[in-house]
Amino acid sequence: MISYQIIEHGKPLQKVLKETPKPTGTEVLVRITRSGVCHSDLHIWDGYFDLGGGKRFYVKDRGCVPPFTMGHEPFGVVEALGPKAKGVRVGQKRIVFPWIGCGKCPMCKAERDNYCTAMRTIGVMRPGAYSTHLLVPHPKYLVDAAGIDEAFAATLACSGVTAYSAARKLTDLVAQDSVAVIGCGGVGLATIAVLRALGVRNVIACDVDEGKLAAARQFGARLTLDTRAPDAVQKLQGLAKGSLGGVIDLVGMPATAQLGLAALRKGGRYVLVGLFGGELQHPLPSFALRAIGISGSYVGSLPELREVVALAKKKKLKKMPLSTRPSSEVNAILEELKAAKVLGRVVLDFETAAA
Ligand code: NAD
Repeated sequence: MISYQIIEHGKPLQKVLKETPKPTGTEVLVRITRSGVCHSDLHIWDGYFDLGGGKRFYVKDRGCVPPFTMGHEPFGVVEALGPKAKGVRVGQKRIVFPWIGCGKCPMCKAERDNYCTAMRTIGVMRPGAYSTHLLVPHPKYLVDAAGIDEAFAATLACSGVTAYSAARKLTDLVAQDSVAVIGCGGVGLATIAVLRALGVRNVIACDVDEGKLAAARQFGARLTLDTRAPDAVQKLQGLAKGSLGGVIDLVGMPATAQLGLAALRKGGRYVLVGLFGGELQHPLPSFALRAIGISGSYVGSLPELREVVALAKKKKLKKMPLSTRPSSEVNAILEELKAAKVLGRVVLDFETAAA
């Protein structure tokens, strides 16, 4: 098999040839055809998350030690089955749910693997999908995506399920409410699509890039805001006519958190997804006096992936701008993503590499 691996954090990934693994027990070997490139891969590539105040959370402390293969938006074809792998057949095309837990704790038993404290995430803690082949521990992590474009299906494994799980945390919206989506990259556009599919009419797209804002408008956002405006809080409140019921922050830096929290109406909820980093200082009484909710949102669960896939199958979920490019271009793509030059998502094509 061919994999593109981190040999040293921050340095170009290297193409590595290895023997293709044989599945044992309940394992399934998937031949990857499409593999999405998420901004989280940039953080993993760097080797750390910025905790603010000069502090860092290093990915090596979570088991991501080079040589390591990233990639957590996998789509492919079942190529081989371990003797105990049931319920799936060789040749079937599947999305791989990457957010897998220990399989034994109460959270995993309730199919909420993303809340497991001993996760085995594909592309973060075990080898990922920047590879022609991927070993999946159990067939239950494979989701049928028949009828959905394969590149789009790949993005549902992270962008789609993350957007869906974040949007479902806005449980208290009223009819006249607007929802702000801060950061209109891959996950941001997926969030706009999910909000629209769930019936939210007033979506306000916020970004620092005119091109991203134009794409968000075409994609279903009713209004847009350049967050660099000095009076961004007042502008956002004005666009929402004083009724900003929810904010989903796909950037997650001090400036975007301050903007989102300040602009919310009383009783509104701020959902933090983005991992750009930093730390927040905020007066505590204002949370209570304004009855504001804050939710962190970490990817999504297997049932949530099934739900978002069902929306896509029913054509209720708009497909974000996608470009499918040869897997050999992975280093150039990571650089483009870092320079904020990617619109929507780039998905790696591993079929060509396998040929
Ligand atoms: P992306 O690079 O595709 O998009 C980022 C967007 O943010 C770009 O459009 C950029 O112009 C915009 N942006 C940057 N600074 C901004 C600012 N100050 N104000 C407004 N917009 C700004 O990234 P992505 O793949 O969409 O991922 C976004 C973030 O979400 C990353 O940090 C990623 O690691 C994180 N993420 C978190 C989860 C989770 O489960 N919590 C899941 C997936 C991704």
